[in-house]
Amino acid sequence: MAGMLEGKTALITGGARGIGREAALLFAAEGARVVASDLNAEGAAETVAMINAAGGQALSIECDVTDGAAVNAMIQAVVDAYGRLDCAFNNAGIAGFQVGAVGKKTADWPEDGVDKMIDVNLKSVWLCMRAELKQFEKQGTGGAIVNTASIAGLHGLPTSSLYVAAKHGVVGLTKTAAIEYATDNIRVNSVCPGYIETDMTKDTMARRGDQILARVPAKRMGVPKEIAEMVCWLASDRASFVTGANYNVDGGFVAS
Ligand code: NAD
Repeated sequence: MAGMLEGKTALITGGARGIGREAALLFAAEGARVVASDLNAEGAAETVAMINAAGGQALSIECDVTDGAAVNAMIQAVVDAYGRLDCAFNNAGIAGFQVGAVGKKTADWPEDGVDKMIDVNLKSVWLCMRAELKQFEKQGTGGAIVNTASIAGLHGLPTSSLYVAAKHGVVGLTKTAAIEYATDNIRVNSVCPGYIETDMTKDTMARRGDQILARVPAKRMGVPKEIAEMVCWLASDRASFVTGANYNVDGGFVAS
């Protein structure tokens, strides 16, 4: 049986590790030609080596998604290599501990940390979408975008205010672009992961994992593959009537 993404070219940002790597592996296993992009060139190259070793087709691109010119060049590089772009997973992101905001309430976030959080977790998604949408329009045959939001895109979370603000922004961008491009056969959706076992959550889980898991109905963290499965489906033609939606993959967190 043909894979869900057979014949598609897919770009994944944040593809060096965690959720992005797992999505890259699954997209390739489902038949896509994959471009794994990341600030971390070595990690992205490792992801590509894993895909190629499994018989898939992939290449890596080093790109800082906060740099608009670099993002445009990344899309051009995808098209130069594979002739087109069909699906994009805008997934690169950072957490509060990466901008000096651990345990800080709203008024205590450092201003440079606020700027960085908005740049990496919100503006970069717009920069990627801008380039992807223009490429889809040029091709004229539609396309699918999946953005990584979070349960923090739907809920307030104490001491995570700018992360929460950025992820709410991602949900808003997703809904608006979905409406604007629906008749062009371009679908835009987001995925809202709960607490997932990646490098991003190690620090938080070490500090207050028990407290967090007590609030998750499934009483466990998710694994990156569980997010990748949803993203792969959303990126595929099987989700052909799904646009402007947010899918929680969170062990029941948002429902509780
Ligand atoms: P991770 O830290 O393992 O991976 C993030 C990747 O993004 C890294 O490879 C990093 O190098 C890359 N990146 C960071 N800044 C970048 C930049 N400016 N340009 C290009 N690449 C950059 O984290 P993860 O858990 O895999 O997170 C992936 C996405 O999922 C993020 O958007 C995160 O906010 C979101 N998310 C994660 C969880 C979770 O529990 N892990 C929950 C909800 C949402």
